[in-house]
Amino acid sequence: MTDTIKARLHVTDALSAGGSVMLADDQAHYLRHVLRLEAGQAVALFNGRDGEWRAVIAEAGKKGVRLNLETQLRPQQPVSDVWLCFAPIKQGRIEMIVEKATELGAGRLLPVITRRTQMQKVNTERLAAHAREAAEQCERLDVPEVAPAVTLEKLLQDWPQGRKLFLCAERNDAPSLLAAAKGEGPCALLIGPEGGFAPEELTQIMALSQVVTVSLGPRILRAETAAIAALAILQSVRQN
Ligand code: SAM
Repeated sequence: MTDTIKARLHVTDALSAGGSVMLADDQAHYLRHVLRLEAGQAVALFNGRDGEWRAVIAEAGKKGVRLNLETQLRPQQPVSDVWLCFAPIKQGRIEMIVEKATELGAGRLLPVITRRTQMQKVNTERLAAHAREAAEQCERLDVPEVAPAVTLEKLLQDWPQGRKLFLCAERNDAPSLLAAAKGEGPCALLIGPEGGFAPEELTQIMALSQVVTVSLGPRILRAETAAIAALAILQSVRQN
């Protein structure tokens, strides 16, 4: 972020030269009362479609903050096509998965309810807000989608034909993700819950032809560590 840009915010409005955007509620509060910005000061806006824009505050009042769009700072880049499928874990740690996955370039986050999943209810909206904040902070030009939670059966049943699914399993005989992930094409990672996948689930997952079982090393990682490590490996071999 340059010196003159005081904040980066994700918006849903279209962004183009000469346009203006009205921010209300939390975003207006953040600019006016947290950052104490005033008319004339600049922020960066992005919406996942039109790149990143310099926007100058025209009015900051009780009804909200109106910004005028000036110049495009960065054109839109292709959005990442890596999916992270993960069993929801405890509050606090699940937010960490969402935040770090956003920083590491995941394009879609899919909570998956497995037999040993402790957290059966997922607050998709709250996780989406975490993804948005992380995208604003890490200078991404898009926000990954947080999909509604589905059961493992449903995930496998609807799995797209052309998308590889890297099943992260703590098995010594599996190839490393580093070796298996080289190449191109749509792909996804699947990370199990704290208690791991049940044996019947592993059989079910491995029956899918798109599945490649991979290892993340000799030690058993916590689910959030596994998600972060797997995305970091994928990012290093696939420019996502
Ligand atoms: N199965 C273990 C158990 O029952 O104690 C622990 C599961 S681990 C905490 C959670 C998830 O992280 C696993 O289901 C797997 O997807 C992933 N994981 C952990 N360590 C891994 C490794 N060394 N290689 C690949 N995946 C790993």
